[in-house]
Amino acid sequence: MTTDPGNTPPQTADEALDRLRAGNLRFVSGEARFPTLQKEILAELARGQQPYATILGCSDSRVPPELVFDAGFGELFVIRVAGNVLGPSILGTLQYSALHLKTPLFVVMGHEGCGAVKAAIASRFDGSRQDGRIEILLEQIIPALDGLDPQAAPADRLSAAVEANVRRTIRELLATPEAKSRMGEGAFRLVGAVYELETGRVRFLD
Ligand SMILES: [Zn+2]
Repeated sequence: MTTDPGNTPPQTADEALDRLRAGNLRFVSGEARFPTLQKEILAELARGQQPYATILGCSDSRVPPELVFDAGFGELFVIRVAGNVLGPSILGTLQYSALHLKTPLFVVMGHEGCGAVKAAIASRFDGSRQDGRIEILLEQIIPALDGLDPQAAPADRLSAAVEANVRRTIRELLATPEAKSRMGEGAFRLVGAVYELETGRVRFLD
């Protein structure tokens, strides 16, 4: 299943990651292929989905995964929530993707200038408070800020926090029993990434 008849769908996490990298390169260089609506592809997809990557990203309107990776219908299974944090519904969605869709690649993608991370920094270091349910969201991010240098310049601190937040989410996911067993089988790969707002580039973390 693919929106590009010339390419076979990625079967492994490494192939999936290569596909994402290539898509982002097309996006950055202004050579994106999608969206191109093709009726035969929609009809084929109506019978079922087999996405090659699951992306947990931020709801920020400037970071749409399908566009950023120049991916078509049926290619990416996307979860978006402010600050790309975990929570019961998110974990349930990820588990569905792992157990039923069996996407070989999982990406947690934060982004520069993330408002949710910025608010978590303000809460952690300056004691500022948000409305109740926003505070609950920020509580998912604040533990990731522990190792940050409180004296760092605000822009540096924010980018360090964005990356730390991605890494913490990855660590939490790796600690789940499903991840441990699938990792043991070599069945999937979990990688972190940060999207750069100004360049459109996705930086995959080590
Ligand atoms: Zn954000």
